[in-house]
Amino acid sequence: MPNPFSGDGDWYKGNLHTHTTVSDGELSPQETIRTYAEGDYDFLALTDHRVVVDYDDLDPHGVTLLTGCELDGGRGELGQDLHVVALGLDAAPQLPDSSDFAEMVVAISGECELCFVTHPFWSLIEASDLLGLQGHVGIEVYNATCQHDCGRGSAEMVWDILLAHGQRLWGFAVDDAHCSEDYCQGWVWVRSAENSVAAILEALKEGHFYASNGPRIYDVAVEGEQVWVRCSPCRQIAVVEANLGGGFSTDRLAAQPPFEEIRLPYHLAARPFRVEVVDDQGHKAWTNPFFPDEVASQASME
Ligand SMILES: [Zn+2]
Ligand SMILES: [Zn+2]
Repeated sequence: MPNPFSGDGDWYKGNLHTHTTVSDGELSPQETIRTYAEGDYDFLALTDHRVVVDYDDLDPHGVTLLTGCELDGGRGELGQDLHVVALGLDAAPQLPDSSDFAEMVVAISGECELCFVTHPFWSLIEASDLLGLQGHVGIEVYNATCQHDCGRGSAEMVWDILLAHGQRLWGFAVDDAHCSEDYCQGWVWVRSAENSVAAILEALKEGHFYASNGPRIYDVAVEGEQVWVRCSPCRQIAVVEANLGGGFSTDRLAAQPPFEEIRLPYHLAARPFRVEVVDDQGHKAWTNPFFPDEVASQASME
């Protein structure tokens, strides 16, 4: 993954998972778009259940609109329905009759620009449900509605297990908004040359973004055996390595928060690492994983 914190481009904020009155949401598509425009969002995907909203007669209010929908059908180990958000498609795909989740994800991925697995903790997804999947680009590391409903919004653990297995998956933060308190609670910041549908979708596919429900991350760079991080004021910054017990957090430093810039140790030979920052209110931001071989080759190019 090219480091989204280096190179050219601007940061664009968006929510990739939202429901409207077209399925089980509280606001109409037009009211939903206006809500995100008023929240200073740059892009938005309406992802109603099993249906793609037609944007033709809607006023985008300056927000770039990505087509999308949420699909369900494949079963997990517990027999539960598992869900996927698909982006960049004209109509909801026909899904296979089979209840095999891997078959469902392959079918979806062939009909859209990208797809990711939604609310893993809420769905009680097990790593074994995800290890055999192909065609998706990531999982929701944070789902605001699942957090508000039942405290099961975060999915760092299953993400790290998949990374430790060598999978290359991105982490999305989303609203999954259905009603008024759900809006503008989880988002991604995409680094892109422009705020167009094609450029945003391409950046999402490439992992050129980070996820947040509060803090900003301004810079991440590997300098030798250290990771340099610059962010909005935070009480904790951690380098999380995808191996047993790997990583390092500012809690182990003598220095006291708030932290806005820090260098933390990182072992180049280790598995992929990602960076998490936590602010005073417990809100977080998550970078996508950095992979040792790519970090090393970027470092040698500089
Ligand atoms: Zn869902
Ligand atoms: Zn949903």
